[in-house]
Amino acid sequence: FFSEELLNAKRIFNETNNINLKKLIKNVEKHAIKIEYLEHVNAFTLQSSISKTNITMLAGAIICGDTRLIDHVFLMKRQPIIAIDGPAGSGKSTVTKLLAKKLNFIYLDTGAMYRALSWYLINEKINFENVQELSAFLKNVSITFKTVSKSLQEVIINNHVVTDKIRSQEINSIVSSIASIKQVREFLVNEQRKIGNKGGIVAEGRDIGSKVFPNSELKIFLTATIDERARRRKLELEKQGCGEISFKELKEQIKKRDFDDSNRKISPLIKAENAIEIVSDGYDIEQITNKILSIYLETIPKELTP
Ligand code: C5P
Repeated sequence: FFSEELLNAKRIFNETNNINLKKLIKNVEKHAIKIEYLEHVNAFTLQSSISKTNITMLAGAIICGDTRLIDHVFLMKRQPIIAIDGPAGSGKSTVTKLLAKKLNFIYLDTGAMYRALSWYLINEKINFENVQELSAFLKNVSITFKTVSKSLQEVIINNHVVTDKIRSQEINSIVSSIASIKQVREFLVNEQRKIGNKGGIVAEGRDIGSKVFPNSELKIFLTATIDERARRRKLELEKQGCGEISFKELKEQIKKRDFDDSNRKISPLIKAENAIEIVSDGYDIEQITNKILSIYLETIPKELTP
């Protein structure tokens, strides 16, 4: 009966998002001689402050006849969120995409949103240094992602399909300065939260764990040495048919973007508190993805993962 009562409370929780602990205690008291404890706590810290906690646990010990029974159930308000932050070229996009596919989660590339907005501001010749002009413009901006095939997600900003255009060198060189504008960040962080607030998402960027979803169940800080990142970018650009590109020049570009992103005033690129750092040098995409997947499976209680 004890586990049945707990499971019943879980069923009610899944429908109402609420645990009526007093009622549960009353129900259990009908059968038990004594309740040693029956609590609703944070599943990770076991503390009782749970107002903002996504994964919690109902746990108890009762005396029933000659036996002491202990049992628990895990509860989850929304699906988990995985935050993957790190500098340019650390392999975030590829890893995030693959991880989302493995978990059947939404894949959110927040960098693409900063890029798309940068493209649009330039295309529409908006003076983004003028706060009023920028704020008025942002009121009518809508960014969406459209899954076209298993490996392709189109980026659309107000009916412009910009998937390829946002990867140009022009955007590479301007995106960081646009991303440092307060109004731009407020607008995009809000959009990102709308996409991710129900969870079941792997989001990549610079401030996901620190700002966008600080309550993410898992925070990864994915990085690689500057040489490795420049080498990867070079290969990527050559694959896209951009011709021979100077390694030295690419390295300088990446360094500058790292510097700008790490030193801006609002939500700079940092390793979030309790993020796990992974250096991807020498590992391939599949190895890194599987490593993150195994950390995820260790973090989330088994009964909550499908
Ligand atoms: O990840 P990606 O290289 O496409 O990001 C492009 C730029 O967008 C970054 O260099 C950074 O300036 C900005 N960005 C950001 N916050 C995020 C994601 C990207 O400031 N969460």
